[in-house]
Amino acid sequence: MPRLDDERKEMIDLLRERGIIDDRVLTVMMKVERHLFVTQPFFNRAYEDTALPIGKEQTISQPYTVAFMTQELQPRSGMKVLEIGTGSGYQAAVLAELGCRVYTIERHLELLNSARRVFEKLGYRIISRGGDGTVGWTEFAPYDGIIVTAGAPEVPEPLMNQLAEGGRLVIPVGDLTAQRLRIITKVNGGFETKELQGFKFVPLIGKKGWEKK
Ligand code: SAH
Repeated sequence: MPRLDDERKEMIDLLRERGIIDDRVLTVMMKVERHLFVTQPFFNRAYEDTALPIGKEQTISQPYTVAFMTQELQPRSGMKVLEIGTGSGYQAAVLAELGCRVYTIERHLELLNSARRVFEKLGYRIISRGGDGTVGWTEFAPYDGIIVTAGAPEVPEPLMNQLAEGGRLVIPVGDLTAQRLRIITKVNGGFETKELQGFKFVPLIGKKGWEKK
């Protein structure tokens, strides 16, 4: 649909203005049709730079947030990436388009199932499971990258343990109202941490996250 293509192009221009500099990330976000990951009433707002409801009190992340986190993950083709919080599946699709081998975990089975339908329709070979992602996914560990798309009270240790040498963990950490993005890199068996700007995520709920209300 040409109108949506134009709107998507405008979204990319806006992301560039807002400071996203990785051309591969911008190219892929021009390609992935975000409107296919949102539900009907929000279809027309898919290319606004805003988070949108996807049901179960969850949201598809803001495009700027997806772009920023993806850029920080430093994705390369063939890299094995674990995502915690599949949600709509949009972030996973962006990573798959970048050539990553994507594993993703979602605690709401209803959301997981609709994301799976979109993956299938678009032909993405993304491996997913339902359940609590705060304990990671040992079966396929270690990962070159781990991306957590919900706000955590602290960094879940299992995720650090499942990082490969040189791997990067991108995770928002803070309280329930605001978080800062942490980038943890495994270097020579140890961990280097940097803390970047603030974001607002839905809570990461689980054994190593927030307690369920
Ligand atoms: N990456 C998603 C963002 C969805 S919002 C997208 O592109 O649309 C974050 C998601 O994390 C929500 O769907 C929420 O249900 C999920 N979540 C929260 N805690 C989780 C946990 N411990 N394990 C797996 N998923 C979790």
